[in-house]
Amino acid sequence: MNQAFLRPDVKETADWIRDKVSENDFFNSEHIVRYLTRRIFSMEDIRQVLLSGTILEIHSHPLRSDAFLVLGAANGEPVHVVCTRDRDDNLIILYAYHPSMPTWQDEKTRTEVKGQAMDARQNAKQRTCFFCNSEIEPITVGNFDFRWEGDLYVIKKVPAGLCVQCGEKYISAEASEKIVEKIEKEAFIEKDEVRVFDYER
Ligand SMILES: [Zn+2]
Repeated sequence: MNQAFLRPDVKETADWIRDKVSENDFFNSEHIVRYLTRRIFSMEDIRQVLLSGTILEIHSHPLRSDAFLVLGAANGEPVHVVCTRDRDDNLIILYAYHPSMPTWQDEKTRTEVKGQAMDARQNAKQRTCFFCNSEIEPITVGNFDFRWEGDLYVIKKVPAGLCVQCGEKYISAEASEKIVEKIEKEAFIEKDEVRVFDYER
């Protein structure tokens, strides 16, 4: 079969995204919900970008649906929103960020990675972000929160890799094991109050 036949039509996809957004018929990833609650972006920003933006890149993956990188603007600032169309024809908003160095020279241009620099990076075992292909920087996460069998845990000072562009965090196998071990030993240093909300009330 002709491979080109499988490529999604950019115009058709852009129209489909705009229709879905106008009808407020889409889903947000947990990543986006975290951005909303931290007020990095508002729902209106995301809608604005998708309604007025253009598809800058299509990322194809053999095992997943194509992801569309949409360039638009919110509050006068360029914003990239990455979304996908799942098998049931749903629009899923995956993540959003302000394009910046070192990944983006400007909102339309990725920074050129020279062959040699790429080799050096691979030799140093440095990885790029699975989601947005940007650089990952080592950081220490002040409060790393996650759930384990329904309970909420916060681990302080966790070493992690942070994507400089989309904010995704990566935890090494070693650090992950240490976290699990601490939980199993119930090695808490303190207990804190948690605010619980009921979505329905
Ligand atoms: Zn990323």
